[in-house]
Amino acid sequence: MSNWRENVRKVVPYVPGEQPNKPGMIKLNTNENPYPPAPGVKRVLDEFQADSLRLYPDPAVTDLVECLADYYGVGKDQVFVGVGSDDVLAMAFMTFFNSEKPILFPDISYSFYSVWAEEFKIPYKRPALDENFKLVKEDYYQENGGVIFPNPNAPTAIYEPLETIEDILQHNKDVVVIVDEAYIDFGGQSALPLIEKYENLLVVQTFSKSRSMAGMRIGFAIGNPELIKYLNDVKYSFNSYTMNRTAICCGVEAVRDDTYFKETTAKIIETREWAKEELTKLGFTFPESQANFIFAAHESVPAKEIFAALREANIYVRYFNAPRISNYLRITIGTRGEMEKLFEFLRTYLNK
Ligand SMILES: *Cc1c(COP(=O)(O)O)cnc(C)c1O
Repeated sequence: MSNWRENVRKVVPYVPGEQPNKPGMIKLNTNENPYPPAPGVKRVLDEFQADSLRLYPDPAVTDLVECLADYYGVGKDQVFVGVGSDDVLAMAFMTFFNSEKPILFPDISYSFYSVWAEEFKIPYKRPALDENFKLVKEDYYQENGGVIFPNPNAPTAIYEPLETIEDILQHNKDVVVIVDEAYIDFGGQSALPLIEKYENLLVVQTFSKSRSMAGMRIGFAIGNPELIKYLNDVKYSFNSYTMNRTAICCGVEAVRDDTYFKETTAKIIETREWAKEELTKLGFTFPESQANFIFAAHESVPAKEIFAALREANIYVRYFNAPRISNYLRITIGTRGEMEKLFEFLRTYLNK
């Protein structure tokens, strides 16, 4: 028996939410945006010159980097872009988490973190959120090799105020602290202003949720120029051309149409606030959400049963069969119409 298998990097992969494609289904399971991307994105795609695809894209992604730098009021040497924030985060793990000491992230958070840590052989510790799923900032005072957490958190939707973030930064000046702001546009305050004060802070955001472009795969990081340089060094040592020509043009258009962006995020926030009331009437409880989803448990019916019944009815939400959260459903905020259908089903199913 040959033993080449001994030298294989074996990983347990991240399991993304299912991507069913059934007629009439209501898809509230992967926190996508129910609205289309900005109209300019469609125009770019309609007018896109396929001939240009014979040429490599700009490896520095200058157009998109400049556009994001303008929008967020930072230097273009402070922006790094990648193929969705998953790509940006993976690069950041590889670049910044190289200590023998464990990196820290909450026991309940984005499940990709432990997957990357395992893949890159980074030791990690997962301090427990408190009984209300709030971050315990003192847990991040211990010695560590880096810190990462989402804000708002996933899948709880809880937003931690900037004072908490700054307190964690104050206690972690010798490591890189990454704040994963995939959902920040739905009501929270970004940690971006803190990058001026903390050269070890990296803020990561994505076009997948608030900018309706999960299918295009664009994410970005903003931080001190030195952090961004280190990230680029790793990127260029891995794959110089991560961003394709189409994604670059479409990304620029999405950022330019700020009116559309603000309108659609405002609609989602409004639907979320109404959905909170409806869920309460149906006997659900949930932590206060500042994201485009609600993490809800029912007073009497187990989440697993509701999940299965919804699935039968062609309504998809997310269920995590994991410690502490196995009685919760993560429900993405869809259009008002989609949410009405969800609640109509739940009223009948729960006899409310
Ligand atoms: C959705 C999500 C991401 C990844 O988004 P991309 O589609 O890869 O940009 C990263 N972090 C969190 C917490 C998310 O929920």
